[in-house]
Amino acid sequence: KNTRTRLVMGNWKMNGNLATNAELLAGLHLGQPDPAVELAVCVPFPYLAQASVALAGGHVSWGAQDVSAHAQGAYTGEVSASMLVDFGCRWVLVGHSERRSMHGESSQLVADKAVAALDGGLVPVVCVGETLTEQEAGQTNQVIAQQLAPVLALGTEALAKIVVAYEPVWAIGTGRSATPEQAQHVHAAIRASLAGAGSQQTRILYGGSVKASNAASLFAMNDIDGALVGGASLVAQEFLRIAAA
Ligand code: PEP
Repeated sequence: KNTRTRLVMGNWKMNGNLATNAELLAGLHLGQPDPAVELAVCVPFPYLAQASVALAGGHVSWGAQDVSAHAQGAYTGEVSASMLVDFGCRWVLVGHSERRSMHGESSQLVADKAVAALDGGLVPVVCVGETLTEQEAGQTNQVIAQQLAPVLALGTEALAKIVVAYEPVWAIGTGRSATPEQAQHVHAAIRASLAGAGSQQTRILYGGSVKASNAASLFAMNDIDGALVGGASLVAQEFLRIAAA
């Protein structure tokens, strides 16, 4: 349908421990996914070293769930892009809805984090999405446009390198995914705004209650280039089945 390589990325959130991770990572490492699909997991900071050992030389890459907007210095508790690169990260989520809502991250801060990630050599996965109230008020496209504005302002070169994830907040962790048509509608709008800013090839992932049973119908949509998967990424076989879809 198009030449964008599919990407299926797990977001473990604040789950796991050394023992359960070992099992999950081994399951992913031993899986035999379609080579045409890129597979990745975003793990909690303390487990990056474990992921880098368990996944080394395999077909699954790894990343983190957040990054500082700053390169280094007096920022207690923050983690820089170069630190993530030290542990072999290729990706980092920025602006996940849980960071926006629980940690007050503004769209400008999210764009600043995307820049820090790019400067450090990481691919930022910029998450956007409307709440249920906003959706019911018919404000979806407007909210997404506001969230994306400072990112679009980064310019064509940056946009060619990033990934965007559309994650309607009402679909995250609720078991209620957007329908393929609903998601496609928003993805097409995001695609148009990226194209307007000069980037045709930016991948746009869908996230929100993706599981093996609904992945294929979502992936059949022209502007859905893969998925960002929360809950279902914690079980290796389920995650691999999503990738196979
Ligand atoms: C997420 O938080 O990125 C997510 C998509 O979660 P879930 O798949 O559990 O809805």
